[in-house]
Amino acid sequence: MDIEAEFPELSGYRKVCTRLHPRAGTAGRQESSVGGPFLWPQDEPWPTCRAPHPRNRGRRVEDVHAWRRVLAEAWRRDPDVGPSQEERDILSALEQVHHVPGLSDTAPVPLLPVAQLFVRDIPGLVAPPGCDLLQVLWCPFDSHGPQSGPGVLVQWRSSSGIGAALAEPPLPEVIGDAGYVPEPCLLDPEQVVEHEYQELLSETLQEQLEAWEAEAEEAAEDSYDDESEFVTYHHDLSIAPGWKIGGYASWNVTGPSEAKCSCGESMQLLLKIDSREWDSGTLSWVPLEDRELINESEANAPTQVTVGRGGSLNIFSCPADPAHEHKVILQG
Ligand SMILES: [Zn+2]
Ligand SMILES: [Zn+2]
Repeated sequence: MDIEAEFPELSGYRKVCTRLHPRAGTAGRQESSVGGPFLWPQDEPWPTCRAPHPRNRGRRVEDVHAWRRVLAEAWRRDPDVGPSQEERDILSALEQVHHVPGLSDTAPVPLLPVAQLFVRDIPGLVAPPGCDLLQVLWCPFDSHGPQSGPGVLVQWRSSSGIGAALAEPPLPEVIGDAGYVPEPCLLDPEQVVEHEYQELLSETLQEQLEAWEAEAEEAAEDSYDDESEFVTYHHDLSIAPGWKIGGYASWNVTGPSEAKCSCGESMQLLLKIDSREWDSGTLSWVPLEDRELINESEANAPTQVTVGRGGSLNIFSCPADPAHEHKVILQG
């Protein structure tokens, strides 16, 4: 629906973002993807985390992948009962926490590849001069930054100068949180219009939208339609759910705020990593291609990444100079 026709002032609060639409699949090294593989120079050391925090207890990366495979297969085979006793035994073995003796709190732990995005694939992705490839990695332990999230590394590079590529990156022996292990996904970028987070609109506009929603709600009740059918600004017309590049940031957990660079510039949302591509409140954003999957369990979680308690992780960059340090803000 054309909400700007109804409220022309909203056109001053409009941005275009690029939804990534991750879907299960294995990409090539030269393609954009979530969950690897990365195009990484063979002769460049794989990045590690040395921030002090415990890293010697956790699940194994391969166990996390296997656990998801066994569980998905069991539910696919038997949608009513799920895993058999035998499968439940396998699952609990795969959930086991392992201890790595002798791994100190500052031993280098290899980062996990999260997303690789080529500028040519992602409209709206603006690279620093000389670069065309964005790579995001993280340390899979909840111990970084003021919000105790994963340790995020944002790496820009030029794909043409890479030469021989690293075949297999090193993996951490154990990881702190299974939600930081992405499943391999292909991307299908799509540009959509967004509008500013509701609480950051002008007060007049906020009041107008509230009145408009109240009216729509009343009309829906009068017509005995399903109440969830009426459109709301926050859920349907503001910020796209799921992984995306650019556009507006949601402030649903911390409350409205602004990411400020140390140079004084207001930072812009570079990448949103989301735990869900949609939920019951954002069904109007489900792509047509996925409509028939809406009720399938986990269809809204193709990457299997969970950040915070099922919220989003937002990486901000500085428009004055993309080389300035990125900021990571967790929402939920
Ligand atoms: Zn770390
Ligand atoms: Zn800056």
